[in-house]
Amino acid sequence: MRCDKVEEHKASCTCTYDPCSRKGLCCECVAYHLRANELPGCFFPAEVERTYDRSVRRFLETYKNR
Ligand code: SF4
Repeated sequence: MRCDKVEEHKASCTCTYDPCSRKGLCCECVAYHLRANELPGCFFPAEVERTYDRSVRRFLETYKNR
């Protein structure tokens, strides 16, 4: 069964990697990035998201002094 909120999620998604097949499928997005020790793009502020570095290390660096 496909998520019935895909279009709603796509509309609010802050990830700038537009060709991604997981866009709007948040459960697949989270699972994909967790397997790589990463977090989804929406966990990062825009200036970090656009670097496509979605590592947990970058996440911790980004927020440790905020
Ligand atoms: S964060 Fe990753 S999996 Fe999620 S929509 Fe962006 S590129 Fe795709």
